[in-house]
Amino acid sequence: MPSDSSGAKVTASRRGVMLVLSSPSGAGKTTLSKAILQREADLALSVSVTTRKPRAGEADGVDYHFCSVAEFTALRDRGGLLEWAEVHGNYYGTPAADVMERLQRGEDVLFDIDWQGARQLAARAPDDTVRVFILPPSAAILAQRLIGRQQDGAEVIERRLAGAAAEIERWAEYDYVLVNEVLSESVDRLSAILAAERVRISRQTSVPDM
Ligand code: ADP
Ligand code: 5GP
Repeated sequence: MPSDSSGAKVTASRRGVMLVLSSPSGAGKTTLSKAILQREADLALSVSVTTRKPRAGEADGVDYHFCSVAEFTALRDRGGLLEWAEVHGNYYGTPAADVMERLQRGEDVLFDIDWQGARQLAARAPDDTVRVFILPPSAAILAQRLIGRQQDGAEVIERRLAGAAAEIERWAEYDYVLVNEVLSESVDRLSAILAAERVRISRQTSVPDM
């Protein structure tokens, strides 16, 4: 660690990273998000608003801000969302409050959003956004994970599997691709991506004055 003439440690300051994870439903984004948030103290989750009904075990304000369609459209129409999309028949969006302030303070923010939202964020903040696409090891494993999660009915699972191929086609728009086979290895790779992106030259707002 460099030090200035008084011997005090000096560090570069930087803008925060907007780390975006997308994947077909069931590939493991939520699991990976929880694991990386536990490992990385300086990373906070952007909690989305959604009109989807809560799944068993999901808490309002923690997993999502659950709301009605009327509440969602009111928030969107007054410019309260950084991005939004309709996914699997429900509305999802990223509340603007907090995110930009956090980035300016040099804090990193994690987004679990679909390709439509990832595209909007990247268009809005190209220098801040890092997009990671998570792939399942195979279509059969994706189906097993959706069924094994035991949180959606057969019809919902069918709809999500049917949409998976179209979502997977989007991977080339992303900066990184990660096949989520062994969870601990996926978390290591995601940590490595974040570590490298934190020291990217374009993100630094000042360097140590020596
Ligand atoms: P998503 O958020 O992408 O829809 P989840 O994180 O809910 O997916 O994961 C779907 C299911 O797959 C969950 O039951 C989860 O425990 C399991 N899962 C996630 N990652 C792995 C992995 N690397 N190996 C085995 N099972 C996994
Ligand atoms: P789920 O219902 O399984 O929690 O999420 C369904 C899909 O919606 C996932 O692909 C998830 O990443 C996406 N999603 C969740 N929140 C947002 C959001 O705020 N914006 C967008 N565009 N997609 C979201």
